[in-house]
Amino acid sequence: MTGTTLDDYTDRYARRVRGMTASEIRALFAVASRPEVVSLAGGAPYIAALPLDAVGEMLGRLGSEHGVTTLQYGIGQGTLELRERICEVMALSGIDASCGASPEDVVVTVGGQQALDLVARLFLDPGDVVLAEGPTYVGALGVFQAAQAQVVHVPMDDDGLIPEALETAVAELARAGRRVKFLYTIPTYQNPMGVTLSEERRERVLDICERAGLLVIEDDPYGQLGFEGDAPRPLRARRRDGVFYLSTFSKTFAPGLRVGWILAPHAVRDKLVIASEANILCPSGYAQAAVSTYLGTMPWREQLKVYREVYRERRDALLAALEDLMPAGTTWTRPTGGLFVWASLPDGLDSKAMMPRAIAARVAYVPGTGFYADGTGTGNMRLNFSFPTPERIREGVRRLAGVMEQDIAMRRVFGGTVGRPGSRRGQAGADTPGPDLA
Ligand code: PMP
Repeated sequence: MTGTTLDDYTDRYARRVRGMTASEIRALFAVASRPEVVSLAGGAPYIAALPLDAVGEMLGRLGSEHGVTTLQYGIGQGTLELRERICEVMALSGIDASCGASPEDVVVTVGGQQALDLVARLFLDPGDVVLAEGPTYVGALGVFQAAQAQVVHVPMDDDGLIPEALETAVAELARAGRRVKFLYTIPTYQNPMGVTLSEERRERVLDICERAGLLVIEDDPYGQLGFEGDAPRPLRARRRDGVFYLSTFSKTFAPGLRVGWILAPHAVRDKLVIASEANILCPSGYAQAAVSTYLGTMPWREQLKVYREVYRERRDALLAALEDLMPAGTTWTRPTGGLFVWASLPDGLDSKAMMPRAIAARVAYVPGTGFYADGTGTGNMRLNFSFPTPERIREGVRRLAGVMEQDIAMRRVFGGTVGRPGSRRGQAGADTPGPDLA
């Protein structure tokens, strides 16, 4: 079909494709990954902290000595050996046999992302409502959008999802006759806010969902990356029914292997496997063997400590730099684990409109709008601290603060919201709020 234009395909797209747009993060990757740019965007773990020689040797042997099995097709649910190891990993967080966790009910997935996709395939019809934190993980928004579901955000504060707001949202949706299928939540070291749902709120959130007949999709990629002692126990450790527990080795080992999992209620385990087989036939045997051998033969608990140490130091560097350098009126979260800080900008600054100026100043972040389904978040940004070194983090914040100071100065001169379409440049009045601030 030479000479075919984009328009020739538009009419043929399935309805679910129409709402698909490139994620803000993906669009930024091309520029943000240039070496001169300090990237506080992205969410990459610091892979250089792994014992790469030993991991490389192990990977080589998996091919040369065990290739006959590791390079062959496998079963859709994933190898028993890996599912047993996954249960050992979950037991560290308190999800163990006493709350019904068993290798039988684990389904191995291609990263945490396929786990989300499978849950959506299993439960979402077009028009269904998904409740999710506001802001929430950008990749989950993409999955729910592809399923033609509507995401309704529930606000958060420093203790995570606000139970009263959840109750209100549930009641309003019930009154409107909307079909809500589940709450999608990242209770521990949330992406993008870095906050953690408090002990007390965990029970309340579970109670509200139980009463409303909502399933709970608990996404927990970061729970073992705490810097200040253990996180509260996961939701799945408190309830065995109605909670789907999703996690991944992407942040605790290596995202390049693309291995994650779902611990599902027993009754739906088979449906998940069937959906996964339709999707990918089976997860990579080689990647599964890499993870199970890593967990079986290498000091993975020690490695978790290494990651925590590295990230704690970088979190401290980011918080100190923000404290020292950010313009007045900027606020941010103080995560006790995970990879991200969420910043709120002084009134009138627009993180999306500011992005090209930030890139020109050689710093990148993710504008807050990427984490909402409804365009909220212009006054926020997500800052990652896992990948850049402490020195680069400080330099990045210095550059970012410079760009923000400039925007604030411009706003003082011209009024309105700097750079946002519709802002009326050249308007008088130093502190006169422009039309965008109404
Ligand atoms: N859920 C959350 C909350 C995440 O932050 C991520 C990755 N950033 C994923 C799922 C997907 O993980 P994976 O890379 O294993 O697919």
